[in-house]
Amino acid sequence: MNDSSGSRPIYVDAHVHLDEYPDTWLGAVLQQLEEAQIVSISTAMAPQAYQRSLEIQQRSPWVCATIGVHPWNARHFADTLDAIEPLLSDSPMFGEIGLDFRNVRDRSMYAAQVKVLEFFMSAAKQQDKIINVHTSGAETEVMDMLERFEIRRAIVHWYSGPLDPLKRMVMRGYMFTFGCEVLSSGLIQSLAHETPLDQILTETDNPGGPQWVFGEPAMPELVKPVVQALAIVKGIDEAEARERVRRNMISLVGDDARLSGVRHALDGSPGRYFTD
Ligand SMILES: [Zn+2]
Repeated sequence: MNDSSGSRPIYVDAHVHLDEYPDTWLGAVLQQLEEAQIVSISTAMAPQAYQRSLEIQQRSPWVCATIGVHPWNARHFADTLDAIEPLLSDSPMFGEIGLDFRNVRDRSMYAAQVKVLEFFMSAAKQQDKIINVHTSGAETEVMDMLERFEIRRAIVHWYSGPLDPLKRMVMRGYMFTFGCEVLSSGLIQSLAHETPLDQILTETDNPGGPQWVFGEPAMPELVKPVVQALAIVKGIDEAEARERVRRNMISLVGDDARLSGVRHALDGSPGRYFTD
């Protein structure tokens, strides 16, 4: 297919936590984003993480920082959402947000998760923003909320649930990230097989995701073997898989002016943030 011929390849890491890298790693991490040309959406587990992501974003045109409250942290923020509200307008997307009924077993925590997710979804609806959403063990509940809040654009992160809600999310046109588990998990490979090629994105969920799967954090170039594994699952070559992911991200971003920096990076011209 029509690759960005002559220029170096562009990769997409649509879900990463750059703020969680120790300072001693960060220089090498940012250098790798630059050298390997990895457009990185740096999601936040909490507002403090967003602040650190913003500082990191200042150091690299390949980084886009987004605000979120992870469902594991929802109980700490559910009663003080007013304090987060003023921060929302400047964040070009929202994430990491969502529900987690698999890793969080204590049902008394669920009301706070729902309240926080409703808060972000309502803002996403009002501000027409992309959300980066976690669905572990609550796939149907998240899908119902996506429908209820009429969320137009979503990145469904590391989906690992049943097929039915996946199919409903596919029907609504959402994007799905695949990460390091596509290298080893038959379930994730079969979900990648079921997900249409024009709705697939890549992620690393670094550094915590690979830490959980491999026992240690990875560098951003982890996205390369992820692309290779997706190419195998989809029966296409690696360059095509990489290019399809880039184009999917471009179509998700669309003409959203708040994401013009991401768009320029996807076009291989990073650092031209304010040309619109
Ligand atoms: Zn994450």
